[in-house]
Amino acid sequence: MGARLAARLLALPLLAVALPLLADPGRAVEVCPLAQTSRPWVGSGRGSAPPRETLPAEAPSGDYRQVLEPSAAGWPVLPQWCVWVEPVSLEGPAARFQLLWLQAVEAALGQWQDHLPLKRVEDPQRAQVLVRRQRPPRLQQAAGQARASHGRASLSLQDTERLGVWRLEPRVEVLISPEQRRAAIEATALHELGHAFGLWGHSPDPADVMAAVPGAEPVLRLSPRDLATLRWLYSKPSPFGSPPP
Ligand SMILES: [Zn+2]
Repeated sequence: MGARLAARLLALPLLAVALPLLADPGRAVEVCPLAQTSRPWVGSGRGSAPPRETLPAEAPSGDYRQVLEPSAAGWPVLPQWCVWVEPVSLEGPAARFQLLWLQAVEAALGQWQDHLPLKRVEDPQRAQVLVRRQRPPRLQQAAGQARASHGRASLSLQDTERLGVWRLEPRVEVLISPEQRRAAIEATALHELGHAFGLWGHSPDPADVMAAVPGAEPVLRLSPRDLATLRWLYSKPSPFGSPPP
């Protein structure tokens, strides 16, 4: 056996260990059943925030895990995400702009899909992530000024009954404004979808999709730091998506 072949055989088990962090094949085969009932999680029963002291205080090199905020019930991630995107009209004067918006959002979703098990659904009742073609309303700030933005993601925690089974689920509404050029829509969608899939925090590095302050040029590719942070997050235990014990 040549040295090169031996090295390749050694590398394979390492890959097999690394992959299940993001895609546990046993749990990813679930489809996206309709929500029969859904109500806000009120903090009883399952789920509790990970103790603050278990969070990394220091900025590690290579990712920005230290800025991530868990929800009150724990890390808001799922073994599989069901995603609904607002349909566009293919006729009439607005069709061209709506299609442009859809293409930009699809390009952003495609990048996340390379690293997360996502399933697209046509019924919002089947989704945990809902993407709407809408400019977010202005946020009122303390000083009385209103801050405008082109995208926003809002998280709520829900107890949801699907196929007769109650699960704790994150529900994220993502608003992406169509009133931007295509590259800006795509960068906005990449960033807001990052929040939707659990990255609730902002990177200090403007080269990351999840940058707090975007640089002059829109970031259109997930950076190695974005992906390393995502891998760290999905290696943590989470109460979401599981039926009660
Ligand atoms: Zn953000």
